[in-house]
Amino acid sequence: MPVVPPPPLESLTKEVQYLKGVGPQKAIMLRKLGISTIWELLNTFPRRYEDRSNLTPLAYLRPGEEGTASGILRAPSSRRISNNRSMVTALLEDQTATIKLVWFNQPWMMRKLEEAEGRQVIAFGRPKIGRGGSLEIASPEWEIIEDEKDSEEFARLQPIYALTEGVYQDTVQAATESAVSEFAKTIPETLPPKILRQNQLLSLPDAYRQIHSPEGWDQVNRARGRFVFEEFLLLQLALQMRKHEAGIELGISFDITGPGRTVGGNLFGENDTLRRPLRTLTQQLLPFQLTGAQQRVIEEIYRDMERPIPMNRLVQGDVGSGKTAVAACAMLAAVRDGYQAALMAPTEILAEQHYFNLRHLFAPLGVEVALLVGKQKAAERRKMVQAVAAGTALIVVGTHAIIQEGVEFARLGLAVVDEQHRFGVLQRAALHEKAKEKPDILVMTATPIPRTLTMTLYGDLDVSVIDELPPGRKPIRTHWKQPHERDAVYANLRKLIDQGRQAYFVCPMIAESEKMQTQAAEDLYYRLSKETYPDLRIGLLHGQMKPTEKEYVMDQFRVHELDILVSTTVIEVGVDVPNASAMVIEDANRFGLSQLHQLRGRVGRGAHQSYCVLIAGDTSADARARMEVMVSTTDGFKIAEKDLEIRGPGDMVGTRQSGRMEFHVADLVRDGRTLEEAREIAIKILEQDPKLEHPDHEMLITRVKERRREIALIAVS
Ligand code: ADP
Ligand code: MG
Repeated sequence: MPVVPPPPLESLTKEVQYLKGVGPQKAIMLRKLGISTIWELLNTFPRRYEDRSNLTPLAYLRPGEEGTASGILRAPSSRRISNNRSMVTALLEDQTATIKLVWFNQPWMMRKLEEAEGRQVIAFGRPKIGRGGSLEIASPEWEIIEDEKDSEEFARLQPIYALTEGVYQDTVQAATESAVSEFAKTIPETLPPKILRQNQLLSLPDAYRQIHSPEGWDQVNRARGRFVFEEFLLLQLALQMRKHEAGIELGISFDITGPGRTVGGNLFGENDTLRRPLRTLTQQLLPFQLTGAQQRVIEEIYRDMERPIPMNRLVQGDVGSGKTAVAACAMLAAVRDGYQAALMAPTEILAEQHYFNLRHLFAPLGVEVALLVGKQKAAERRKMVQAVAAGTALIVVGTHAIIQEGVEFARLGLAVVDEQHRFGVLQRAALHEKAKEKPDILVMTATPIPRTLTMTLYGDLDVSVIDELPPGRKPIRTHWKQPHERDAVYANLRKLIDQGRQAYFVCPMIAESEKMQTQAAEDLYYRLSKETYPDLRIGLLHGQMKPTEKEYVMDQFRVHELDILVSTTVIEVGVDVPNASAMVIEDANRFGLSQLHQLRGRVGRGAHQSYCVLIAGDTSADARARMEVMVSTTDGFKIAEKDLEIRGPGDMVGTRQSGRMEFHVADLVRDGRTLEEAREIAIKILEQDPKLEHPDHEMLITRVKERRREIALIAVS
């Protein structure tokens, strides 16, 4: 069952078998679809509608386009195509043409087809060009046209429900119709009358009626729109209410404009550099001029840090937009007041790189930076843990090792979480618990999360966007090459290396195991260093190496002792070598779009023209579409929208998180506008009635409370 709200009335929990025209036999059938009560039946929405007034003659069906056609069913046949696969076929024939219908692994279809042989049937599906060059439809929806059905009913929009083996479309349709006519009118309205009026929404009973037996397309859309709006409104109300409550908690008020407060005593001794105005200090420390976007985001962060309310801010910036500098400025503000700042990174390599950079940056101030990663030596780790607990280390960089048992902070004031989409939410919550006072939280992500998704999943985070790259960057040129074109790719790459550039080779992603992925990287490494480029300096980096080994190889690449770095996806995030201007990604179609974008972001960081070559055979239309997206744009937001379209939001934020965020009807990609409207309306409602105590809001608060329980796990604070 999809996410369905609990039944608002006792009478709706009655079993379906008591519905007119259903009975025990059909009730068993419906149970196979997960439907046992009337409420569940009413909430099982049609998957689509068939407009039977709109039949297409078979000869006019177009490959790739959905269509409904009718004709005589002929020649059903069934055969086994391998040990565990079977195929059932039949022909559909009208005056204009004959097409083939095909079902794989649905042997039970044969019996139904034999029943229909020689009769008029209606079929719906997406035809494609089959083996013999003629049109066929795989797994069409179909049914026999019964003569006795009167023509008026036949012409209506027909709801089509998802079925499973042994369940018939007629059964579901008839049961639903019965439920709608008897019970729809009893369903209590959730939304206040004013909201319904102002947004011209169908009432809830009407929406249920029109979604199951629509009068026309317009009514279907209005019914769906009503459900989508309600889902989004409830979610936004829940998120906004939680945000208000978090705002009441007391956090730390950092001194931004003054000389700093030094809560931890006279930490810095005679070091009065720290007492300089914060904004002057940041410019003195950073080796470059901040971009306008960076400055704007830093000001937004400073404003939050100044307020005595815990900050919950998400900084979104495409790869290379300079999030680290922004984080450093925030950390500086915390440190100047004698608080500790923690920076969590998703991988050890990235943590080490941040450690390296921050130590360098903060050295002139005499600020101690500690590193905490999983595979540290016990003695070293103990030393670091002590420095964190004593408060002598003001900056702590690490992986999730930071929040493991045994790490206590003396005065955690700010926690920065880098590349948050890889972190479980619980980890973030745990970090919060490490602090005695509520620390400010800054989440940074390079995965450009589409706005619709940020609003849903992070509805109670404030969002800042770094929408500008540091000056002088040239857009990366991306090429998609077939595997047989590798030699030409390798030859071109050599030219770049001869010009003094460096390159990454990313080996295929192997989801099954890290070991296999390591193996693939080793193979590629040997092939390149023995056969293709025996004269070049090539390094290898993979997830199974020890942290010190990884660090050593990365350092070699950083200081240009290596020309080529062969790597698994461990370099996906954050690695920063401006002289590396080319990347070759093997088997690129095994990666998700956002992942390819992340990988590609490792190049294009310096002043040189950069290139990214995707090697992939065009196996499927999907794969082709994805490669074309990568070639046509470097805009992370566009890529993320496409990714969301192709894969659905589930993959993007980690299943646990988004699994809880399923919607019954709403679609984050399609219904983005409605989500924004719902958000604005939610804010307005809460401005007037922050706790939803008004009698008009009685149903609303009940439903919001249910929603809040569901999203409790996605907690930020
Ligand atoms: P990301 O947002 O991907 O984490 P980084 O913080 O790693 O990006 O920054 C990418 C590169 O750009 C780094 O080499 C960094 O030093 C550099 N950089 C950041 N901000 C600026 C700036 N304002 N001007 C010039 N270079 C910058
Ligand atoms: Mg980064």
